[in-house]
Amino acid sequence: MTKYIFVTGGVTSSLGKGIISASLAKLLQARGYRVTIQKFDPYINIDPGTLNPYEHGECFVTEDGAETDLDLGHYERFLNTPTSKANNITTGRIYQNVINREREGAFLGKTVQVVPHITDEIKRNVRILGETGDYDIVITEIGGTVGDIESLPFIEAVRQFRWELGQNDSLVIHLTLIPFLAAAGELKTKPTQHSVKMLLEYGIQPDILVCRTEHHINADIRKKIALFCNVNINAVIESIDASTIYDVPLLMLKEQLDKTVLSKLKLPTKQEPVLDNWKDFLGRLKNPTAEIRIGLIGKYVELPDAYKSIIESFIHAGAKNECKVKVESIQSDSLTPDNAVERLKGLHGVLVAPGFGIRGIEGKIETIKYVRENNIPFFGICLGMQCAVVEYGRNVLGLKGAHSTEMDPETPYPVIGMMEDQKNITQMGGTMRLGSYACDLKKGSKAAAIYGKSQITERHRHRYEFNNTYRKQYEAAGLIPSGINPENDLVEIVELKNHPFFVGAQFHPELKSTVANPHPLFVNFVAAALAYSRKN
Ligand code: GLN
Repeated sequence: MTKYIFVTGGVTSSLGKGIISASLAKLLQARGYRVTIQKFDPYINIDPGTLNPYEHGECFVTEDGAETDLDLGHYERFLNTPTSKANNITTGRIYQNVINREREGAFLGKTVQVVPHITDEIKRNVRILGETGDYDIVITEIGGTVGDIESLPFIEAVRQFRWELGQNDSLVIHLTLIPFLAAAGELKTKPTQHSVKMLLEYGIQPDILVCRTEHHINADIRKKIALFCNVNINAVIESIDASTIYDVPLLMLKEQLDKTVLSKLKLPTKQEPVLDNWKDFLGRLKNPTAEIRIGLIGKYVELPDAYKSIIESFIHAGAKNECKVKVESIQSDSLTPDNAVERLKGLHGVLVAPGFGIRGIEGKIETIKYVRENNIPFFGICLGMQCAVVEYGRNVLGLKGAHSTEMDPETPYPVIGMMEDQKNITQMGGTMRLGSYACDLKKGSKAAAIYGKSQITERHRHRYEFNNTYRKQYEAAGLIPSGINPENDLVEIVELKNHPFFVGAQFHPELKSTVANPHPLFVNFVAAALAYSRKN
C-alpha cells in the first residue's frame, strides 16, 4: 500500500521545496524505502519545453523524453533513480487531458468543471505513480505558493485525496519562511501563522512545518509555531541556510524529519539511514586539494539556473577529483576575435553550453578555435558540439562559410543540418529529438576509454545533427566521430586526436550525473583541466 506525502509552500516562492522534497526522499530511501517525487506546476504551458531559460531555468529531459521542471534534476541527482513524464504535470497538461476527453464524449450531457473534473484529473495523476507498485512512498510537490489563484485546484485535490485515503496514509508538509528582522533582532513567526491559516481555509491542516530560516529557531519559537499552527512540537522542523544543497539531507536527518514522517504514516523506521557514500561525497566536496577554473560559455549565463545540471555535474565531478571547480560564466555574445584571448586567459578548461538560435554563436566558435589551438581542455554539449564541428569545418577543412542550417539556412557547407524526420514538423512543443538513445563507441577512442564500455545511452534534446555527408572529410582531418547511434547512424560524439581533451557530445551528459554516479565525461574533463592547470 503506497503512502502519499504532499509538499506545499507558503509565504514566498523560492524556499526550496524541491530540495526539501529530494532530501526527505533521500533519507527515506536510505532507510530502505522505495520513493519517488512528483512535481505539479501551476502554469498553463503543457511543459516547460517552450519556456525561455530566463523564465524558468533549465529544462530537464527525462529518459522517456519528457521536457520537465529542473526540480526533477534534483530528484534524480539525490536519489540516483530516473524520473519520467509522470513525475511532472502542469495545469496545461491537466486541462488538455480533460478537454481531450470532453471532445471524445467522455462527459456527455455533463457540465465540465474545475471541481470535480480538473481535481479528479489531478488526483488521477497522483495515483498513477502509486499504482505502478514501484513505490512505497510518493512525494508530490505542489508548485507555487499557497494562496496563489492558480494553485487552488491542486490544493483542493490534495484535500479531497487525503479525505479519500485512510487516516495514516498521507500527510502534508508545509514549507514556510521564518524571517529575521534585523531592526528588531528577532525571528518572526507571523507570516507562517498566516500561511497555515490560509491552508486551513482550504481545508488542509498541515502535519509538519519545515521552516526556512537564516538563524537557529530556539525551543520557544518552536513551541510558539507549534501552538499557533496546531502541530506537534517535533513537527516543527528547522531548515537553516546551508553552504551546499547536498548538506540538506543531513540537516533534515538531524531534525528527524524522516522519523517524524514515518511515525505519522505509521511506517516502521526500518534501519538508520545508510548515507556512507553521501557523506564520503560531502567530505571530498568540502576538502578539495586543488582548484581549477572552468569557463562556461553560454548565452543565458546571467541566470545560473539556466545551466543547473551542468553546474551540478561539475560539483559531482569536482568532488570525485577532490578538486574545487570554479565555474566562470562568460556571456557568449560578449566574445569577439579581438577579446577572446584576453577573456579566456587563465582558464583551465572551457565548456561551450547547449542552446538555440544565433545569438552568441560566433563568440562560441571563436572560443573553440582558441582552446583547440592552445590545447586547453574543451567540452562541447549539444550546440557546443555543433559549434566545434562548424569551427573545425571553417578553420581546418577550409570550408569557408560552413555553418549549421539553424543559424544560416543558405550556408554553402551545411555541416550541421536538420534531421530528416524534423523537416515536416510544424508544432513546436515536445517535437525535438528527446530522451534516451543508444550510442556505440568507437574502439580505441577517448570516449570508449572514458566510459569503459562499447555502448551507452544518453539523453537528447535537439533538432539538428552532424551532416554525415562530411563525415569522412572530418575523420581524415582528425576530428573523429567516436560515438554513433546504432539505429540511424547519427554522429553523437566527436573528439580530436592529439589534444589533451577535446570532446563534443550531441547529447546532454549533464542530465545523468548524480551524487552516486558522477558523469564520466565530466569527471574526465575535470581531470584533464586539473592536469592542464598543473602543467601551466
Ligand atoms: N539548437 C541546437 C539544435 O536544436 C542545439 C540544441 C541544444 O543545444 N540543446 O539542434
